[in-house]
Amino acid sequence: MKIIITGAAGFIGSAVCRHLLRETNASIVCLDKMTYAAHPDTLTHIVDGHRVVFEKVDICNRAEVERVFREHKPDAVMHLAAESHVDRSIEIPGVFIETNVVGTYVMLEAARHYWSGLAEERRNGFRFHHISTDEVYGSLGETGKFTETTPYAPSSPYSASKASADHLVQAWHHTHGLPVVVSNCSNNYGPYQFPEKLIPLMIINALEGKPLPVYGAGANVRDWLFVEDHAAALVRILTAGRIGEKYNVGGNAEHSNIEVVHTICDTLDAMLPVKRPRRDLIAHVADRPGHDQRYAIDATKIKNELGWEPSVTFEAGLRRTIEWYLTHQTWWQPLRSSIYGGQRLGLGAADFARRLEVVA
Ligand code: NAD
Repeated sequence: MKIIITGAAGFIGSAVCRHLLRETNASIVCLDKMTYAAHPDTLTHIVDGHRVVFEKVDICNRAEVERVFREHKPDAVMHLAAESHVDRSIEIPGVFIETNVVGTYVMLEAARHYWSGLAEERRNGFRFHHISTDEVYGSLGETGKFTETTPYAPSSPYSASKASADHLVQAWHHTHGLPVVVSNCSNNYGPYQFPEKLIPLMIINALEGKPLPVYGAGANVRDWLFVEDHAAALVRILTAGRIGEKYNVGGNAEHSNIEVVHTICDTLDAMLPVKRPRRDLIAHVADRPGHDQRYAIDATKIKNELGWEPSVTFEAGLRRTIEWYLTHQTWWQPLRSSIYGGQRLGLGAADFARRLEVVA
């Protein structure tokens, strides 16, 4: 099986590549524009030019996307490429509409033309798996969980752009018969996550003795899933999920932001003792506009139909993540500098430094 993975140089895409290499015989076409969120070293150990090849392509570039389909003749697409950071979507929504909505449309059209020209047996086996977020469902109160039939009510430009993409994918299935499957997952954490997101930002700032900015009281609740569990779920959905269906993926691990930050501080204090507890670094900052209060996933469907459930507890996954950031400083250090991260974002050093101080 040959799979095009869009966004393969990103956090989850690269975890999917590592999982496929470890657990399957699949060959992979890594398709990525290499935006600021992609780190070349994430793919260095993956791309070998044979089983895994790399295509530096923007998913909005239809001619290039069509060329990749023509040249590589995939059996499936796992579509992860996206602008993924909510705070950036509030500041610069245009690129989110461009990549997440228009880019998904381009991927769907290219996939449809390619798929409709396949011989019947390959046509029947083809899959377009769109990877999305639980944020499309909006915010929950203190109780309840998102199911696959929860109506969409996105709050941020990011989640609205992902919701739009989800609808496009379903429309290409209903209108054109494209064999799609969609999954909506809760917050991921783990190795190789860009340090603008909550968990890596807090780990790194705490290591460097810098302030730990927490939105409001830190009472917003998220469900957390270790990225390797998500990668396993995605491969299960791709290979065994039913065409046209949606699957929610969750970690069964609800925690408020402040609980997460406390756990990071306490774990680091136990590993690398310092004079003052790292919790003292916590600085409460003005809340994010439109900040959803709570997300929680009902993952019964994927458990019952596909036999998947998370294997890593939040405590164990967080510890593994902290250990990874401690032992991979050469991966994340350059991302903190203006030379690498700032220039890639088109920002000056001061603006880039400020960006890294804003909580995910
Ligand atoms: P990420 O930001 O780490 O990686 C995104 C990747 O997409 C990067 O490598 C980037 O270079 C690439 N990309 C961006 N624009 C592109 C374009 N126009 N053309 C080609 N490549 C482009 O994101 P992630 O956290 O790995 O998320 C991957 C997917 O999973 C996204 O679709 C996201 O919406 C979804 N998701 C993420 C989470 C999470 O907690 N991180 C949870 C649920 C769903």
